[in-house]
Amino acid sequence: METGPGAWTPDQLATMAKLRDAAMNDPYALTELRHLTDNIGPRIAGSPQAQAAVDYVAGEMRALGAEVQLEKTTVPHWVRGEETGALVAWPDMTPGTTQKIVLTALGGSVATAPGGLTADVVVANSFDDLKALPPGAVTGKILLLNEKFDKRLAAQGNGLAAYGEAVLYRGAGPSVAASVGAAAVLVRSVGGADYRLPHTGMTYYTPGLEKIPAAAVTAEDADLLENLSRQGPVKMRLTLTPQTLPPVTSYNVIADWKGTEHPEQVVIVSGHLDSWDLGTGAIDDGAGIVVSMQAIHLLQKLGIHPKRTVRFVAWMDEEQNGEGAQTYAQDHAADLANHIGALESDLGADHPDGITYAGRPELGEYLKPVAHVLAPIGASTLTAGEEAGEDVGFLKGVPGFTPTQDSRFYFNYHHTAADTFDKVDPRLLNENAAVMAVVAYALADATTPAPR
Ligand SMILES: [Zn+2]
Repeated sequence: METGPGAWTPDQLATMAKLRDAAMNDPYALTELRHLTDNIGPRIAGSPQAQAAVDYVAGEMRALGAEVQLEKTTVPHWVRGEETGALVAWPDMTPGTTQKIVLTALGGSVATAPGGLTADVVVANSFDDLKALPPGAVTGKILLLNEKFDKRLAAQGNGLAAYGEAVLYRGAGPSVAASVGAAAVLVRSVGGADYRLPHTGMTYYTPGLEKIPAAAVTAEDADLLENLSRQGPVKMRLTLTPQTLPPVTSYNVIADWKGTEHPEQVVIVSGHLDSWDLGTGAIDDGAGIVVSMQAIHLLQKLGIHPKRTVRFVAWMDEEQNGEGAQTYAQDHAADLANHIGALESDLGADHPDGITYAGRPELGEYLKPVAHVLAPIGASTLTAGEEAGEDVGFLKGVPGFTPTQDSRFYFNYHHTAADTFDKVDPRLLNENAAVMAVVAYALADATTPAPR
């Protein structure tokens, strides 16, 4: 289908094509990802590695000639400890043996007693199943919430929807379990892989309810517990020794590529710099950080200076409380009207088939010429979405944009020890970098700003 130039001149559309091609042939994003993941490592908020990542990314942005600021925020400081699970009694067990249960503490979890907690296991496949249990059935027990991740939905391309259904159990599980008297809670891992990998992630305690230890078990171990407990009583020992330390000062990294005509008007291009601690945060969200860094790198390399400011942001603490993004929204509240758009990439680095926009429906029509430029890399589909990312979602009223990534595989490794550098395909990473750079430039240099 033919599209007119819309808010851009033919020269500007040619610049977009140049950015697209440069993005596809540039090793910058991959090199930066290798450093963040292999050299710096896991970057959980509050950790020395998170601080090292702040300093590193700020230095890289300064080296490109961007105007860099560190924006102070206060983040949680939760530190994982020992985490083990073992069956000690089950139907037809071989006397004198135990069976390992593979698990990992959920973010924010409190600890068990140092020597662990030994109790019977009760399995509920859903909150409805839990409600149907007789009164007192869970008191003093270890409750397994065994809601199954909808792999079929993910395989159909709706990974994010499958995640959304299952993650309710991870978030609310401990408080729901505490409200029926459980001593601890296990949640079936929220993820689609079958490699006996536990998936961590944040959990939340409802104020006023007892805080009980909370862990994610692998899908395989959840099946095992379900099967055995159908046959008779199952007893396990659970040991978790995480610590919640006092909150610490941390930072969003902000790097401005100043606009030539309207420097006060800003287009954000962003990812989150913190990761979980089990892996090295390659897909979540090292990839989002480095494709955003690459946008600034390409503007520098090609000598492109749009009318408005392109602002790289590395958000801190997306995974736990979103403190960095909330701080930004507060600190810049008076200035959000000058935020023309906000991009965030936080769904890994699989193939993007286009742009998802969150805001007015007119954004779809507005973006058509930009999508057309992205057609050669298979990224020309325009999709209306609810939100463009957890962090930019805090910037109320600001149009949001994100590459529409293939989400079939992302949740296989999400929040596991296997979220490592090798999971990122260099070509697909560059496709995402191309979408980010082209859209950021387009919004920053447009004759008319994005509808809002
Ligand atoms: Zn993320």
